[in-house]
Amino acid sequence: MWFAASRMESDMTAPFVSRRTVLQGIVGVAAASVSRIGAAQAKFKEFPFSLGVAAGDPAPDGFVLWTRLAPMPLKARGGMSRKPIPVRFDIATDPQMTAIVRSGTATSHIETAHALHVEVDGLEPGRDYFYRFRAGDADSAVGRARTLPAPNAAVDRIKFASAGCQQWEGGYYTAWRHIADENLDFVIHYGDYIYEGAHRAADGNNKPLPRTLPEDFKACITLTDYRRRYGLYKSDPDLQTAHASCPFYSSYDDHEVANNWAGDTDARNTPPEDFLFRRAAAFQAWYEHMPVRRGLMPRGPDLRSYRAVRIGKLADIAILDTRQFRTKQPCGDGIKPSCPEAEISTRTMMGTPQEHWLADHLKHATGMWQVLAQQVMFGRLNWRAFLKHGEAIAHAENMDKWDSAPAARERILAMYAANKKMPVVLSGDAHKAFAMEIEREKPRRSPAGVEFLATSISSGGDGAIDAPSTQPLYADNPHLKFFANLRGYTRHTVSAKEWRADHRALESIAKPGAAITTLKSLAVEPHIAKLNEA
Ligand code: FE
Ligand code: CA
Repeated sequence: MWFAASRMESDMTAPFVSRRTVLQGIVGVAAASVSRIGAAQAKFKEFPFSLGVAAGDPAPDGFVLWTRLAPMPLKARGGMSRKPIPVRFDIATDPQMTAIVRSGTATSHIETAHALHVEVDGLEPGRDYFYRFRAGDADSAVGRARTLPAPNAAVDRIKFASAGCQQWEGGYYTAWRHIADENLDFVIHYGDYIYEGAHRAADGNNKPLPRTLPEDFKACITLTDYRRRYGLYKSDPDLQTAHASCPFYSSYDDHEVANNWAGDTDARNTPPEDFLFRRAAAFQAWYEHMPVRRGLMPRGPDLRSYRAVRIGKLADIAILDTRQFRTKQPCGDGIKPSCPEAEISTRTMMGTPQEHWLADHLKHATGMWQVLAQQVMFGRLNWRAFLKHGEAIAHAENMDKWDSAPAARERILAMYAANKKMPVVLSGDAHKAFAMEIEREKPRRSPAGVEFLATSISSGGDGAIDAPSTQPLYADNPHLKFFANLRGYTRHTVSAKEWRADHRALESIAKPGAAITTLKSLAVEPHIAKLNEA
């Protein structure tokens, strides 16, 4: 019903470029565009670039360009046959695509859902490029990518967003539309890009869901299920506009696979050998739909996605995987008043090889700022304000977060201290915004870092700015400097003098088009683990 309706039809012919680009007088070329390559090429009954374009994993000399040929993205095969399709790509220095500096052809294959991951190098550092794909008689929208500064450049300033948790039926992707207008260097997507479940009842506030999943959508188990879910999510014009506006660093959290999975287990206690088949399908679909480098192609159920990024002399970013190698949530998961099992020193969120990799990375990372970009809340937090009768207990911790492995958190903080570095931690997953100061507990309590946890794009539906939990939460957590239960993202503006985080929020996502405001700005000085009013 939904899919056949006018929304999709009009989206198919709409130029998927940001409002900012349109204002500059550029009209994105979409379905109406006619090919200048031969008629012998593929012809599509429907627009094949229905899922938009994306750039990702920018480096000083290039990036990866992504698209997927899917004229009918909710069909099992996306409306494609098994015939490989040559797809041309052009890279230009102007958004009108007149000054083309690179062109080439890549071939799409049905085995990987006719998705393309074109790795481009040899470009100039620290500048904008524009790109477009062409298949048969169809041209894609034009996207903007930006290369990173040269590795030893003194970088004046970078501006980026951290965002994630975009349950499609939770509400409109208005936050993505605003991200597209921010003129960012990049986006860090911490995960929950899709939700694998099939949520049809009312949202958490008992309001009807703003969007309804197609009737035949069940919980994602098979590769086809996951592909169709990405097809639905990525058909959203606001999400496409955000991808076309700047490159992404993509990672995943739990819902790309299954709610609160951990290692080779899920929350339903599926036997690990069976669960790993689902994880393999989920990872393949994630790879097929994300603008990530070909090195992130999974091998069966295994995917090495943790990686490091150097932003000139200004910053180093370590992007973690806190799901695939972690130990299972202790004490049955959830928010628990006490959990002795959590204190076991061998518990881990990253696994030993990834911890060793991070230790090695920190030895060589010389940037002014050290960024730990990952999924779930890193700092300690007393969660009792979120429990129904929380006032009756002194303390409660969330077993899906780093509080479920405090010894692992101490190991990470000790690594930073040993290298005389201070982490700025980025996280998400909580569907609420938090900003807090982080302490080391051993050998004695001492300031160790700061954390900015981005709220959700849409998961959880509309929140409220003055939830009853807010005041008790602050009272229990003096290190917590900001909390808000509204949808949006965090915008970071970073220079050698200051890290500034703006918590951007929408009043409502129940209808499209809400305005965005900055609820709170907090600033950090280099090497001082303290959040200041900005
Ligand atoms: Fe989420
Ligand atoms: Ca999550």
